[in-house]
Amino acid sequence: MTERWPSGSELPTEPVGSLPRPSALQRAVLDAETGLITQAELAAAQQHAVEDTLDRFAATESPLLSDGEQRRQSFSSYPLGTSLNDGSIAEGPVFAVFADGHHRVIPSLARGPFRYRGWAADDVVAARELTDLPLKQAVISPSMLSLMVPQQGLGDYSREDFLDDVVSGCAEDIRRCFAAGAARVTIDFTEGRLALRDDLRAPWAGPEALAGFIDLINRVLGELSSELRTAVGVHTCPGNDNDSDHSADVDYAELLPELFQIEAGYFLVQAAGEQDPDRVAKLVGRQLSKRASRAGGAPRVLLGVTNPTNPKLETAEQVSEQLVKAARFIPAELLGSTDDCGFSPYLIDEKPRHGSPDFARDVAFAKIAARVRGTRLAAAELNGAAA
Ligand SMILES: [Zn+2]
Repeated sequence: MTERWPSGSELPTEPVGSLPRPSALQRAVLDAETGLITQAELAAAQQHAVEDTLDRFAATESPLLSDGEQRRQSFSSYPLGTSLNDGSIAEGPVFAVFADGHHRVIPSLARGPFRYRGWAADDVVAARELTDLPLKQAVISPSMLSLMVPQQGLGDYSREDFLDDVVSGCAEDIRRCFAAGAARVTIDFTEGRLALRDDLRAPWAGPEALAGFIDLINRVLGELSSELRTAVGVHTCPGNDNDSDHSADVDYAELLPELFQIEAGYFLVQAAGEQDPDRVAKLVGRQLSKRASRAGGAPRVLLGVTNPTNPKLETAEQVSEQLVKAARFIPAELLGSTDDCGFSPYLIDEKPRHGSPDFARDVAFAKIAARVRGTRLAAAELNGAAA
């Protein structure tokens, strides 16, 4: 079996998943929609972006690479496939209102049954042809998919049948990612923190929704072997789109006790963009102590050490300092690093604080390189302290 985690004194580090699509690719997607270029020309632009992403990722010396989700419209809509104009998908309710005032909606299923028509695993297959280096893959959470059908179901297609289809599809996608060669797979759970935000414009949210989400994710994890489950992570964040967030005002003290009810092998927790990253480590450490006595022990936690909504570069020294301080609360053997979020969860993303998607792409790779170097520095320091 592929080695899932580094051994010895190294600290694991990995990206969340997405990277800004080059301006040329964003343009090509819009041109393909209006018929100005062919689907073959669009596929060539996507392939070029994936090749460039994997090359630049390798240059950061990141131990795990991702394809940056260059072929995806968004982190959430890919299971619906690319033919969104056949009447099977309608515009759904508001998903999130971001701090800058813009919003995103949830695609909604116009008729049942729900079947996966696009697989994250296909991106692993395509990337595997381009690199021998270890890959990670992000998949959409069953909780996000659960918002695509109303509580009363769709005609004869009941809500219960729909959720069964969501759970089995999501578990199948994860198994396919591993079969295609992914070393680790993470479930995007951006709607976790958002669920606790009081906002009447997002009617799906609330503490009850959060409990239902956690139950659904645990159902998916329950369909996987315990061996695979150790390599499945869950990502929490306050969102990232157009360099803005959707739920930074929700206190982690409310979310984390619920989040750690998820039986994942590890967690990717946004922290660098918080006012006090050290407080996040402290709150996480408290939850890990509670989990330690349970079967399977405490999960690993990769803390976010770079902030994708802000173009200011974190230095390797800052990354290292954050991790070394975090190790006061989180045992070093459970600690690692990641980015606070995907660098561009949606394909069309102007990255206004960065000035352009292309510059944001350069910044993202510089941040990833700093994360990789800083994590190595932290491991050396923590190892020296232990010796
Ligand atoms: Zn995120």
